[in-house]
Amino acid sequence: MGRYIGPVCRLCRRENEKLYLKGERCYTDKCAFNTRPTLPGQRGKFGQPSRRRKPKDYGIRLREKQKMRTIYGLMERQFKNYFEKALQMPGQTGENFLQLLERRLDNVIFRLGFAPSRKAARQLVRHGHFLVNGKKVDIPSYIVKAGDIIQVKESSKQLEVIHETLKKRGRIKELSWLQLDKAHLEGKLLSIPTRAEIPTTVNEHLVVEFYSR
Ligand code: SF4
Repeated sequence: MGRYIGPVCRLCRRENEKLYLKGERCYTDKCAFNTRPTLPGQRGKFGQPSRRRKPKDYGIRLREKQKMRTIYGLMERQFKNYFEKALQMPGQTGENFLQLLERRLDNVIFRLGFAPSRKAARQLVRHGHFLVNGKKVDIPSYIVKAGDIIQVKESSKQLEVIHETLKKRGRIKELSWLQLDKAHLEGKLLSIPTRAEIPTTVNEHLVVEFYSR
């Protein structure tokens, strides 16, 4: 299945939760989740958000998997590959799964506050605006390791989107596993985050159960 190219806000309405996929707009009154708090499509048009039929176990797990995949903006194949990688790692599969997704370079750029959304972060990475340990990395799926230093490339330091996002960074939760040096436009992954240190509403156990069925 290809990448979803339909209306992004529809995905939040589908999951009945704000997923913050659009960056700045998500924090304003224009957020579609506030202005149209119904399910997308005809069913949403004629009913209340709560009149959804009670989903069965499979449906609950499927929705959680779709929500997690939507948040990180990945295609099914890519997403499942992370699950399979997590399965091979020692420790809890659910936590490993989340850790791998959180360590993607595009996610780290977003978490540091250099980009307003993961999608925007992916674009910035693809355009070669970042260095990891002094070397240009333009692969959004690059897995950042503990101790790695992520810098905005010298010639990209004037990019407005980065400065605008950093200005509003106050509303982003400070993360103990990431260090930001705003003055030098660089950040560091201090340690691999534990489950408790990853701010997400995703229930990764349901996603593991979905793929293990
Ligand atoms: Fe979701 Fe953001 Fe759209 Fe609101 S503006 S519905 S949070 S993507």
